[in-house]
Amino acid sequence: MLPGVHAIVPILGFIIFFLAPKTQIPMAPLSFAIKGRVLTAEDGAEYLNALNRFSHVSILKPQHIFFPAELDDIPPILNYATSNDPPIELAVKGGGIHSSAWASSDGGIVIDLAQLNKVALSPDNQSVIVQGGAVWGDVYKVCQEAKLEVVGSPLWFVGVGGFTLGGGYGPLSGEHGLAIDNLLSAIVVLADGRIVRTSPTEEPELFWAIRGGGNQFGIVVEFTFKTHPSAGPFTVGTLIYDGEKLPLILKAIQDWKANQTANSRLNLMFFRPGPSFAPKIMLLPWIAGSASNVEEILAPFRRTVTPLLDKVNSVPDMFALSHGSDASFAAAPKRLIIRGLFIADIWGDMMMEVFKRWRDHTEGSEDVKSSGIMCDLTFPYKITEIDPSATASHVRRPHYWFSVQGRSNRVEADDVNKAFVASVARYVREYNTQKTGEDFGAWISMAQGDESAKDIFGDNLSRLRRAKARYDPQKVWTKGIVIEPASE
Ligand SMILES: Cc1cc2nc3c(=O)[nH]c(=O)nc-3n(C[C@H](O)[C@H](O)[C@H](O)COP(=O)(O)OP(=O)(O)OC[C@H]3O[C@@H](n4cnc5c(N)ncnc54)[C@H](O)[C@@H]3O)c2cc1C
Repeated sequence: MLPGVHAIVPILGFIIFFLAPKTQIPMAPLSFAIKGRVLTAEDGAEYLNALNRFSHVSILKPQHIFFPAELDDIPPILNYATSNDPPIELAVKGGGIHSSAWASSDGGIVIDLAQLNKVALSPDNQSVIVQGGAVWGDVYKVCQEAKLEVVGSPLWFVGVGGFTLGGGYGPLSGEHGLAIDNLLSAIVVLADGRIVRTSPTEEPELFWAIRGGGNQFGIVVEFTFKTHPSAGPFTVGTLIYDGEKLPLILKAIQDWKANQTANSRLNLMFFRPGPSFAPKIMLLPWIAGSASNVEEILAPFRRTVTPLLDKVNSVPDMFALSHGSDASFAAAPKRLIIRGLFIADIWGDMMMEVFKRWRDHTEGSEDVKSSGIMCDLTFPYKITEIDPSATASHVRRPHYWFSVQGRSNRVEADDVNKAFVASVARYVREYNTQKTGEDFGAWISMAQGDESAKDIFGDNLSRLRRAKARYDPQKVWTKGIVIEPASE
C-alpha cells in the first residue's frame, strides 16, 4: 500500500457517506446495460455535478442517475424501477429548471434526458424535431441558421420538455399561441415501456393530455414543432424607475395595452438592484420585426415619467434574445421558490398591494432582498383561438402570467420565502377570481406541488383522469401534480 493511503481511505468513506442518498430503498442489482451512462454517489464529483438544478432548493440525492443515450435505453430503466419491491421512485429531468423537486429524487432514480438533446429541421423547414432533453438554446441555434423561429422560452437554458408540457408561454405566443399550440406530434415512452408516436391522428387522447398535463403521461423523447419565418430583429430594452412611481407606470401600461399588437410584449418586474437595494420597477419591452413605430410604442413609458435607466437596442433573433439575461441570472441567489398563476389584468389596486407586500418582505431581511415579482404581458388574444377543452391547458380566456419569486442563498431563508410566495400568490389568485368571477387556478410550470390537481387542470381534470387510466394506470409517475386514474 502506498504511503498516505491509510489516511485517504477513511476520508473517501466519509465523502461517500456524505454523498449517499438519505433514503436507502432496497434495490436489486442492475441487471441490464444501457448505451448511456449511470452515476451513483460513488462517482463523487460527477455525481454531485449531475445533482445540480437551476434552483438549489430542487437538489436531492438519488441512488442512480441514468443518462439515456438512445430511446431504447429508457424501457429497461422503467422496468427495473417498477419491478423492484417496493417500486423505485422515478424522476425525469429535462432542463432542470422547475423550482420544485419534481425532476429530482431522494433515494430513487433520476432519468436525466441531457444526452437526448438533438435538434433537426424537417426537409421542408416547416417543422423542427427536438429530442426531449434539449434546452431552448439548442433549438434556437438550429433555427437561427435557417432564419426560422419557434414558440419557445425567452431563456435559452429552460428545458423544452417541462416548458412544453406546462403549456409554454414565449415571446412569440402573442402571434403564434402557446408552444403546445405549435406542437405537431411527439414520441412518448409510456410507463409500461412502450414507445408510441402521438399526434392529432395517432393516440389522440395522449396528444391532448401531454399538451398541458405535465409529466403524468410518459417521457416525451421527441417533440415536433411548427416553425415560423424569423420575426427578427427584435427591439428589446430595459427601463428602470423608482418604486414610488408605480401608480404612474401602471397607468402607462394601461395606455400601452390599449394599442398593444401581437408582436409587442412587456415584462414588469419589482426588484432591488445594488448598491442601494432601494425598490425599483423594471420594464422589459420586446417588439418583433422592424417596427417603424418603436418610439411611438415606447412613448407611454417615457412621457409619463422619466426612467432612471432607458436602454433599448436590437437583437437579431431568439437565440440572441435568449442570452440577454445571462449576467443577471449568474449573479442571482441560487435558492429560488416560485409560484405562478394567470390573471386577466394587472389591476392598479392589486399591483399596489403586491408591491407593498414585496417591499415589506424584502426590507425585512438581507437574505431575501433578491426576491421579486414578475408579470408577463404578452398579447393575450391569440391563445384564445383554441377552445379550453382542446388541450389539457384549460385557461384560454385572455390572460397574462404572473409570478412571485422568493430568492436567497441560505437554506434558513427558505421558510420565510415560501410563506411570502404562497401569501402573494393566494392574494392575487383571489383578487383575480373576485374580478373575473372565474378561478384561473395555478400554473403547473411554476407550481410548488401542494396545489390540487383541480387547481391546476380545472374542468379538464376528469378527462385527464381517464387518459391517466389508459396511459399510466399503475401511477408510475409519482412526481409532480399526480392525477388519479379514473375508469371510463
Ligand atoms: C427563471 C424562469 C423563467 C421561466 N420563464 C418561463 C416562460 O417565460 N414561459 C413559460 O412557459 N415557462 C417559464 N418558466 C417555467 C418553466 O417553463 C418550467 O419550470 C418548466 O417545467 C421547465 O422545464 P425543464 O425541462 O427545464 O424543467 P425540469 O425541472 O427538468 O422538469 C420540470 C417537470 O417537467 C418534467 N419533464 C421535463 N422534461 C420532460 C420530458 N421530456 N418528458 C416528460 N416529463 C418531462 C419533469 O419530470 C418535471 O416534472 C420559467 C421558469 C424559470 C425558473
